[in-house]
Amino acid sequence: MAATTSASSVSTYNENGVSNPPQYPLQVAKRLEKFKTTIFTQMSMLAVKHGAINLGQGFPNFDGPEFVKEAAIKAIKEGKNQYARGYGVPDLNTAVAARFKKDSGLVVDPEKEVTVTSGCTEAIAATILGLINPGDEVILFAPFYDSYEATLSMAGAKIKSITLRPPDFSIPINELKNAVSKNTRAVLMNTPHNPTGKMFTREEMDILASLCIENDVLVFSDEVYDKLAFEADHISMASLPGMYERTVTMNSLGKTFSLTGWKIGQQLQQLFRAPDSYYEELKKDYEAKKAILVEGLKTVGFVVYPSSGTYFVIADHTPFGLNNDVAFCEYLIQEVGVVAIPTSVFYLNPEDGKNLVRFTFCKDEETLREAVKRMKQKLKVLV
Ligand code: GLN
Repeated sequence: MAATTSASSVSTYNENGVSNPPQYPLQVAKRLEKFKTTIFTQMSMLAVKHGAINLGQGFPNFDGPEFVKEAAIKAIKEGKNQYARGYGVPDLNTAVAARFKKDSGLVVDPEKEVTVTSGCTEAIAATILGLINPGDEVILFAPFYDSYEATLSMAGAKIKSITLRPPDFSIPINELKNAVSKNTRAVLMNTPHNPTGKMFTREEMDILASLCIENDVLVFSDEVYDKLAFEADHISMASLPGMYERTVTMNSLGKTFSLTGWKIGQQLQQLFRAPDSYYEELKKDYEAKKAILVEGLKTVGFVVYPSSGTYFVIADHTPFGLNNDVAFCEYLIQEVGVVAIPTSVFYLNPEDGKNLVRFTFCKDEETLREAVKRMKQKLKVLV
């Protein structure tokens, strides 16, 4: 069989169907040149290589609930295996709208205002590519989830980044006001916030809302950690007066149901009808895990910043004397056997994150205790 190849394909095949070595150099498109393998993949691969405990990438090391797995098996067995309607099967859209009403009080039209995507990363990409023109300015809060920058670059957006700083990562209001211009098309926000665990306060959201209304700016609001809100109630940006019509709310089920590897939700409308007790139990479990990790990190000698939501916590590693976050994480993997995420990759200006690392507590309690034990044995605070 003859080889068929396109500019982007990595392999060609000889007449026996055996793959030839890749043809180099492959030229990545200019708009994506600066993006490398995501830090989460890099760190999880290192975790496996070094046999380190992975408190880096945010995925539970325990399984999701039985009723969810059963629902998926039932749907497959019932033959719900062909193309679904592109924006979601009717019953699922109805379930999403009902859930959103319960959570935020807002009534949305399941047919016109709800779209089902394959994971929230697709929702973010669809929103940005669908609503941003090249040259439009988009405001981001750093540290930010890495796919935001890559997707905004694909859309040709001009990114304006506002850095949230410890201890409370609050919005520097004057900086925000100065960043808004007649070219600002949207603000991309995330609450509860990955990687800091910050939850935007009502005051911050009110100010952001009035700025957006005054300047006719859209809000893209990533709320995937809404069910992991520990210290305060989650507030949806769309629920603020005047914001519904200018907000795209993005959510997902992966975190809530501890099944981060599932990227299809077309048939699982049952999940939206999970009883309240499921969410209460989830929160209680995570609060216990969070306490183990946060208290543990403090006893090791980290400066730990308060996290109100998500399953992440930010710590300052400088007491241990390593040069920056990347050097610290390398040391932590190789010498201690624990993986954390260096945060400098989440900033336009990496310097802003060089003192900070992110740990996740979405692991079973034994794993969290073992990680703390390793750090206690091997990390020494410099005096
Ligand atoms: N959202 C998760 C995290 O921040 C996983 C990210 C990923 O694997 N791309 O850790």
